[in-house]
Formats: sequence, structure tokens, C-alpha cells
Amino acid sequence: RIRVGVLALQGSFREHMTLLQKVPGVEVVEVRTKDELESVAGLIIPGGESTTMALVAERWGLIPELRSFAKAGKPVWGTCAGMIFLAEGAEGQKEGGQTLLGGLDITVSRNFFGAQINSFETRLPAPECVKSHGSTDDFRAVFIRAPAVLAAGPGVEVLAEYALTPEERAKHGRDKVIVGVRKGVLMATAFHPELTTDIRWHQAFVDMVRAHAGEAGGVPGKAPPP
Ligand code: GLN
Repeated sequence: RIRVGVLALQGSFREHMTLLQKVPGVEVVEVRTKDELESVAGLIIPGGESTTMALVAERWGLIPELRSFAKAGKPVWGTCAGMIFLAEGAEGQKEGGQTLLGGLDITVSRNFFGAQINSFETRLPAPECVKSHGSTDDFRAVFIRAPAVLAAGPGVEVLAEYALTPEERAKHGRDKVIVGVRKGVLMATAFHPELTTDIRWHQAFVDMVRAHAGEAGGVPGKAPPP
């Protein structure tokens, strides 16, 4: 079994844990401390509110630990607020800015799709890493006060794109935006697979964790803290 953590400071971490528990061979860990973080081979950063999440992480002294986790080459997947957290740059931040973990060479717009009432759901084509898990169907993409990727650096793999509606096009002056990316061990999605019953995105992330743990010598992580 491989240990995969979910950052449990704020946001939709329980929903992620529920889906992750359905992936065979995975032990799911709630991560709130340095020891818990060190015990896992990969980490999911859930959706929620990125400024609040950053403040809680700062207060708990987790920011440097999270940064070195990703720097050590351990896989991290950020959904929604988690995507913002992993971005190198964010537009539409609160005044005075907010701490970003960074590491993923993308610039995001924090509330690209508007406020809570502009939350919506659609279906998008599944990328290869998702299609390889039993079904090639489109996936349900749930956007809640969602960010979008405005720019992605070289080598960033686009996993999902969203075609804007005519109104959105007029507002943003573009036809489509990137809503799912991956580079190396970092993955980020603007939507929330954890709010659906489709576990394929979680399986795709566990593949990344396994691939990395294999390369690192098959050591999936240290023993759990007592
Ligand atoms: N836009 C929100 C933020 O700035 C994220 C929303 C979400 O995670 N559902 O944190």
C-alpha cells in the first residue's frame, strides 16, 4: 500500500479522502503536521479558500515543509484553491497578496469564473492519464468560484481546457482557458473531481505517486507517526 496524504487544514479534504479511499492499494492520511507530511508519498491540496488555507498553513508553520515536499520531487495535486496555492503567480489576490507555495510554472486568475453564484458544472474530454482508468468518457467538471490558468510556462502539459461561452469571451477577450495542467510531479485542476463519484482523476494522481515512489527506490514513505 502506498500512503497518500490530503492537506486537511481547510476546504474539501473529506471529499478527497472519500474518493482516494476507493483507489485500491492506497492508505489515506489526513495531513496537518510536519510528521504526517513526511509520512506520505504524495499529497492532495483540496479546494476551499486559498487565502484562508495559506493563513492556516502559515500559522501552523507548514509553508516551508510544503515547499520542500514538492522540491524533494514528491507528487502534489492541487484542486481549485490548491491550484492557486501551487501556482508561481496569481492575479486577483487579496490586498497585500497571499502566500503561494509556487513550484508550478503557471499564472492563474483566482476567481476567473466570477463569484459563488457563477459556479457551474460541465463535461470535458478526459486526458489520456484519466482515460486509461477504465472509461474513456468525458468527466464531470465542477467549477466553484474557480480559478483558471492565464499562462503556462514551457513544458507544462495541458490536461483540460474549457471553451468560454459568448459572454465569457466578450468579458475576457479569449476563446478558451486552461483548467487542468501537469508538469513533472505537480498536477493542478481548477475543477473538483472530489465532488463527483468518478475516481479516475484520483487514480491518475496515484499513478504519479507510484511512479515516483518506484523511481525513489520503492519506499512509499516513512512509518506513520505514533
Ligand atoms: N477562488 C477561490 C480562492 O481564491 C478557490 C475556490 C475553490 O477552491 N472552490 O481560494
